[in-house]
Amino acid sequence: MDLDAVATLLAGEPAYRRRQVWEWTARGAASYGEMTNLPRNTRALLEDEVPFSTLLPAHAARSKDGTVKVLFHTAEEHPVEAVLMRYRDGRRSVCLSSQSGCPLTCTFCATGTMQFRRNLTAWEILDQALYFRRLEAIDHVVFMGMGEPMLNIDAVVAAARLLPDLGVTHRRTTVSTVGWLPGLTRFIDEVEQPIRLALSLHAAADALRSELMPVNDRYPLEDVLAECRRYVQLRRRKVFVEYVMLAGVNDAPEHAEQLAAVLDKSSFKVNLIPYNPTGMYDGSSRDAIAAFKHVLDRARLPATVRLTRGRDIAAACGQLAASA
Ligand code: SAH
Repeated sequence: MDLDAVATLLAGEPAYRRRQVWEWTARGAASYGEMTNLPRNTRALLEDEVPFSTLLPAHAARSKDGTVKVLFHTAEEHPVEAVLMRYRDGRRSVCLSSQSGCPLTCTFCATGTMQFRRNLTAWEILDQALYFRRLEAIDHVVFMGMGEPMLNIDAVVAAARLLPDLGVTHRRTTVSTVGWLPGLTRFIDEVEQPIRLALSLHAAADALRSELMPVNDRYPLEDVLAECRRYVQLRRRKVFVEYVMLAGVNDAPEHAEQLAAVLDKSSFKVNLIPYNPTGMYDGSSRDAIAAFKHVLDRARLPATVRLTRGRDIAAACGQLAASA
């Protein structure tokens, strides 16, 4: 819902009207009609003038593990995907997109192969979360869908700041980045809320990282890691490091040694991600992942292996490419 449009439309009414509209929406109301403490004619005016959502759901798919992926369209029909992950312990985590497509060209990620359209507005980002909020209570959000959040930092932060109204605290909100420095620096300097930071690393040496992620030529690892350490000092929270396991590319024990050498254990926690097929690589075997983790364990660098969700509906990490 475009709350700015709501505010403009209701400019002649008391300021608390806008707040009422938002409270109903954030708690999962499905239409203006449900907002029973608004005068009937205000509800009718809103219905006529401001679409209830800035995004229209075009397709929904449900995985056998309970994961739900939804393809939305913006007003100009640009594709945007978001995913709800349901875990056995009851956790409900929503993965949001910050852009339609992505201008970066990481070789292992399907989103980079589709056409980049544009940055999403804060309202378009929130409407993805609100869609799922209307289905059930949600408690975690990750900005790990389509797009690079730090290229759209203002809208991402504006959306993240409102997530507690939907039931998602800042501590349970994570923004993931390739290490786009201008946005990352602003995120560290300007965002006081304890929002978690995740870094997509995937290789501990510049040459290999540049091969996998061309953005590394622009913002080399050393500078990005220095910024991450500044985040840790200021926010007193570890940075999560994402590392996708590609067979024969970045998954040898020596790569793990390099990783343990560049990441200090007091500042970083590693999340090894089994590669989700996008046609470009082979995923590392279970044994290779276990051996890699063993090296990190020995170095006492905290590491976990990410649970794969929604692969059968192309909803897993790196698979969002709006193919429905
Ligand atoms: N652009 C941001 C936000 C997207 S997060 C970022 O890259 O951090 C999506 C995560 O999934 C990133 O860590 C990305 O590197 C990872 N990923 C991309 N393609 C993948 C694939 N095929 N298999 C597993 N993980 C992948």
